[in-house]
Amino acid sequence: MPRGADAGAGTTVADVKPATPERVTAELNAAERRKRLVEVYREASVCEKCSLAADRNTVVFGAGNADADLMFVGEAPGAEEDRQGKPFVGRAGQFLDQLLEEVGMKREDVFIANTLLCRPPGNRDPQPEELDSCRPWLDAKVDLIQPRVIATLGNFATKLLTANPTGITRVHGTPQEHVIGGRSLYVFPLFHPAAGLRTPRVAEHLREDFRRLPDLLARALPEPPPGIATALEGEPEPDQLGLFGKR
Ligand code: URA
Repeated sequence: MPRGADAGAGTTVADVKPATPERVTAELNAAERRKRLVEVYREASVCEKCSLAADRNTVVFGAGNADADLMFVGEAPGAEEDRQGKPFVGRAGQFLDQLLEEVGMKREDVFIANTLLCRPPGNRDPQPEELDSCRPWLDAKVDLIQPRVIATLGNFATKLLTANPTGITRVHGTPQEHVIGGRSLYVFPLFHPAAGLRTPRVAEHLREDFRRLPDLLARALPEPPPGIATALEGEPEPDQLGLFGKR
């Protein structure tokens, strides 16, 4: 759950639209984005958009720094996450914390979410219609947190956010440029930490890939494709103002 901030009434996830050219020219400051994130959290916590709502104990919205440069997206909450309402609280989460620590970061520095807000019964795979229903919540988080890098953990998150069926074994460790939640950023595919716990070679890959994160976070953001305006592009150059001003 994002820290602090009073939530005002009235904003729903439907109000947190993907960044249209109009919207990105009116960038919100970090406090305002955090406040809106709390509002989206409240809305999400009673979501009934798919059948997973029937069996869940708690919606796992995500947790961490609401202004993080680095966001992780895992697969779906497990039994313990469903009980506690927080992502990655089990052994895979402890390994994720360790990997972060090894590159000088802490969980509090990043935001951690999943492709799904709710636990699939028996930890079965997320279904396409569940991923579709849940996608607006994920896009709203990206739009409000404004990460520079989304590290996808495992096959489900990677295939969803790269919109590409290529498996994690082939794509891990190589950043890709994407527009997500209306923002131009890097998607960095990683193996799921649970796979690293099972297979030492995968744990080595995870460690190698995590070591690339600091440089990737320092890299300039990818150029937005035509049609996705940035705040600066939206502002007229001083010498253009006369073209549109009063005479
Ligand atoms: N695995 C995930 O993908 N997400 C969690 O929140 C916990 C375990």
